[in-house]
Amino acid sequence: MSATLTADRLWTDRRRRVAELRGRQGFARQLLDLYGALLGVQEKAFVDAAAASPDAGDLAAYVAEVVVPGVVDVTLFAGPDRLRSELIHRLETEHPRQIVARWIAGEDQALVDRYLARASLGPVLEALDPRTLAAGGGEHDPRHCPECGGPPQLSFSAVPAEDLATGPRFLECARCGVAWGYPRMTCAACGEDSSARLSVFSELGTASGERGSVVRGLPAGDSAARQRTVFPHIRIEACESCRRYLLSIDLATDPAAVPVVDELAAIPLDLYAREQGFSKITPNLMGF
Ligand SMILES: [Zn+2]
Ligand SMILES: [Zn+2]
Repeated sequence: MSATLTADRLWTDRRRRVAELRGRQGFARQLLDLYGALLGVQEKAFVDAAAASPDAGDLAAYVAEVVVPGVVDVTLFAGPDRLRSELIHRLETEHPRQIVARWIAGEDQALVDRYLARASLGPVLEALDPRTLAAGGGEHDPRHCPECGGPPQLSFSAVPAEDLATGPRFLECARCGVAWGYPRMTCAACGEDSSARLSVFSELGTASGERGSVVRGLPAGDSAARQRTVFPHIRIEACESCRRYLLSIDLATDPAAVPVVDELAAIPLDLYAREQGFSKITPNLMGF
């Protein structure tokens, strides 16, 4: 497949998935409407950046000039009230170049700053050769993106090869979207691999031998119950050692899933993990 075809599919798949989840996850409709509107701006930013190929050192200025205005327009049109008013306030007090530069440097930021930086920079990073991004800083260990040093947003399991029970596990970068292989039942934040200290939560509990609990108290393995679940393919992977978690998407259970979209819309699982006292390794674009 050519690079162009692959890139087209990236955006087509995301739009398709937004439409699917919008129909069946009413609780996430406003979020999905905003994200769906952003996808138009992001696809254009992706195409423009692939053609312009800005230098890594100029990224923040490039993104602030070329992408931020479109992201602001869409957000003021489709975003929730609070995000809109915070965004207006921030743009009155700070140049977007600074906001984007802080996200590239991996600094702690307010929710609205992270949103603006990620929504604007994400598609540009996806369009560029990730290896040119190493200048962005970040850690270099198995728990960070091998290309740009960014933290993981989510975990996903690929469809297994015919003779295997489970597919390989990957982490997906919160900054550039690159996926890299990572061992199962190992914390993506601290590397803990003692199964007694790793908890898996899913809507139905878990049918595997791993430790688990239940979000809604439905019995595991009951096919009628399984049909009623909203997230049969997503689980919370949490660590008792560092008290962090991330969501893991199983593509074998739902091959139509698009990890970055499904992770955004799984709000009830994030709320459940928070109730248990865990904090997400990297909050997603929408702050969950
Ligand atoms: Zn990365
Ligand atoms: Zn941990």
